[in-house]
Amino acid sequence: MSWKDLVRRVDPYVPGEQPTEQHIIKLNTNENPYPPAPGVQEILRDMDAGQLRLYPDPAAGLLTEKLAAEYRVKKEQVFVGVGSDDVLAMSFLTFFNGSAPLLFPDVSYSFYEVWAECFRIPYRKIPLTEDWRIDPKDYETENGGIVFPNPNAPTGIALPIGDIRKILDANRDVVVIVDEAYVDFGAESALPLLAEYDNLLIVQTFSKSRSMAGIRIGFAIGNEELIRCLSDVRYSFNSYTMNRPSILAGTAALEDRTYFEKTVGKIINTRDSVRDELEEMGFVCLDSSTNFLFVTHPDIPAAELFRILRGKGIYVRYFALPRIDNYLRITIGTAKQMQVLLDTLRLILREKS
Ligand code: PMP
Repeated sequence: MSWKDLVRRVDPYVPGEQPTEQHIIKLNTNENPYPPAPGVQEILRDMDAGQLRLYPDPAAGLLTEKLAAEYRVKKEQVFVGVGSDDVLAMSFLTFFNGSAPLLFPDVSYSFYEVWAECFRIPYRKIPLTEDWRIDPKDYETENGGIVFPNPNAPTGIALPIGDIRKILDANRDVVVIVDEAYVDFGAESALPLLAEYDNLLIVQTFSKSRSMAGIRIGFAIGNEELIRCLSDVRYSFNSYTMNRPSILAGTAALEDRTYFEKTVGKIINTRDSVRDELEEMGFVCLDSSTNFLFVTHPDIPAAELFRILRGKGIYVRYFALPRIDNYLRITIGTAKQMQVLLDTLRLILREKS
């Protein structure tokens, strides 16, 4: 017997590379290419560092109340965490404590499987349809909970709210988590369903549409009792998850709706025009309601294209996983960055033919 027999062994989630070189065109982790709202910069600049000697508000009241006002719910329906990864991890720990399997799509956010393994939650992956969609009928089977991103990642495809309703109707007795990390880029949020389903938990993040991946803010909205259960687990883990700067910065971000809408609009426009150009080059692009495109090309394997682009200083994401190992996920950057990507792809394809 050694300590090694007592270790909780996990295959960790592997995030996209974070290169330190400045010249890299970084389209591999779905970050927003634009800075956060100007008010975020101001509040961080003016922050009194002397305040850091004090613990932050354990309930992150300022941010929670601002979120409640923004999404027109009670503050008791809001939970905040250190990025939506933290919120999702806490939710897995809280809500998926049964013996029936947790269900999620086979092609989805690969962290779900890692948390399930880590927390010893039984799970079953439900295959997406041939055309990469979630079919609500596939979720009419015994389970201990359901989680899926909407829009899905890395496919980018959104599930209509009517289909979310079907999943909820067939699963009234388990918690259904809709991970809306990318919802602001063109999908319909499940928020209007909250009043009808007390088992629905919606998770969102400041990392994508609010350009704040570096500060780590995520949140969940759900029925008061769900949120209370989630908070009890969280307080049994770490009382002060949200630090003072992120509470202030998150609150400031929510104050500037105009900036938020402008930035999201720019990304949507860039996405749609990049998609047209990629299709002209022969790429097949899945329908994206996100800030990324999931693409494949008949003439060049994705793994090879990934390597060539990387060699030229353009980072995109490649997953060596079943069904998707001939696809690349390309985050939408600025129009200028995307022009460099498109020019580079044209050159690569020309050399190939
Ligand atoms: N959900 C999905 C579907 C994601 O792609 C990501 C980003 N990796 C997250 C959640 C977590 O994002 P964050 O922790 O930055 O909020």
